[in-house]
Amino acid sequence: MTIPIHQRTLNKPVSCSGIGLHSGKTVHLTLKPASVNHGIKFVRKDLPDNPSIPALFNCVVDTSLATVIGSDGVIVSTIEHLMACLAGLSIDNVIVELDSYEVPVMDGSAGPFTRMILEAGIRELEAPRHFFMLKEPIELEQDGKFVGAYPDDTFKFTCHIEFEHPLIRSQSCTIEVVDHEFERKISSARTFGFLHEVEYMKRYGLARGGSLDNAVVIDENNVLNDEGLRYQDEFVRHKLLDCIGDFALLGMPILGHIVTRKSGHEFNHAFLERFFNDKASWHTQTLQEPAAVPSKTAKSLAI
Ligand SMILES: [Zn+2]
Repeated sequence: MTIPIHQRTLNKPVSCSGIGLHSGKTVHLTLKPASVNHGIKFVRKDLPDNPSIPALFNCVVDTSLATVIGSDGVIVSTIEHLMACLAGLSIDNVIVELDSYEVPVMDGSAGPFTRMILEAGIRELEAPRHFFMLKEPIELEQDGKFVGAYPDDTFKFTCHIEFEHPLIRSQSCTIEVVDHEFERKISSARTFGFLHEVEYMKRYGLARGGSLDNAVVIDENNVLNDEGLRYQDEFVRHKLLDCIGDFALLGMPILGHIVTRKSGHEFNHAFLERFFNDKASWHTQTLQEPAAVPSKTAKSLAI
């Protein structure tokens, strides 16, 4: 298994539409190829001058119900599953155009985005990818939540969740973000919620677009969706999907092993700030063939 070492984008534009989870409004979304070092940027086509917001952690303005980025009073909400998909497919440069403030929820997973991108095809660009290289572990722990990043020769995630619920209890999942691993093991895992939480959110006008079509909903003992679960451990797979999306906001992959326990968007973002500010513990560099031998083949890059 190898990690792509050249920057990548899409072969051609692709579009989809769906409803926003929180707004309940229909949104049209188009992904367009972008050039080297463009990164991922969201463009609001419904607003004058089409303002754009880079998908970077320092543009995150809210993580309470979804990951929201903003700049100069313009926001784009619920970006996490699309970001996970782009990072999971090792795509570095994309223009994301949308005509509302919220990315469509689709089926609550990254599966529809993943299929649409793979149909369009992925194009390798003639420039190296930049990676964060860890010199030492970086860890953050608070109130039983934990996130750690450890030096490794690949881009790997392990998530662990614990819920006092008979269908979940304690679950762990690990994947390397290489080849088809994300597409096969993570992309189709849906977001999930407990019935009492869903009822509470609906009462306060939140999750207006939420339904059994775009989330796994569980009551005290059962999955309420007729089709059941897509994987027996779909819950932790979705947490891992969310985590990949959150870490994508660093703007480049970490050549390292990310380990989380009982974390969520908010704590992941606290870790990203800690990580980015701990500049003595990492540097950035490109890789040359063969991948994953960083110490001998790496070319240092100052940022
Ligand atoms: Zn999610």
